[in-house]
Amino acid sequence: MMIHMTAEQNYAINVNFYKCTGCGDCMTACPENQDAKREVGYLDESNAVILVKSANVQVIHESLCTGCGSCIPACPVSAIDIVMKGD
Ligand code: SF4
Ligand code: SF4
Repeated sequence: MMIHMTAEQNYAINVNFYKCTGCGDCMTACPENQDAKREVGYLDESNAVILVKSANVQVIHESLCTGCGSCIPACPVSAIDIVMKGD
C-alpha cells in the first residue's frame, strides 16, 4: 500500500510539443508509470501518468504525478518540465 505524503500537492506536467520527439524515455523513467505497469502488466490511458501517443508524450493522469522530477533529466531534448500548482 502506497502512502502519498504529498497528496495535497499537485503538479503540472508541461511538455514542449515542438521539441518532443516521442522517444518515450520520460514515460519509461517515471516511477509512477513503472508502478502502474507492474501492478497490471500494461500501461495505457487507464493508468499512465504520461504516455506516448501520436508521436508526442501526452499527459494522461496529471493528478498521479508526485513531482519527483525523474522525467526531466530523462528527456534528451529537455522538452518536459514539472511545476508545482499554485492554490
Ligand atoms: S515528475 Fe515524476 S511522477 Fe511526475 S511525470 Fe515526471 S517522473 Fe512521473
Ligand atoms: S523524453 Fe522528451 S522527447 Fe522523449 S517522449 Fe519524453 S518529452 Fe518527448
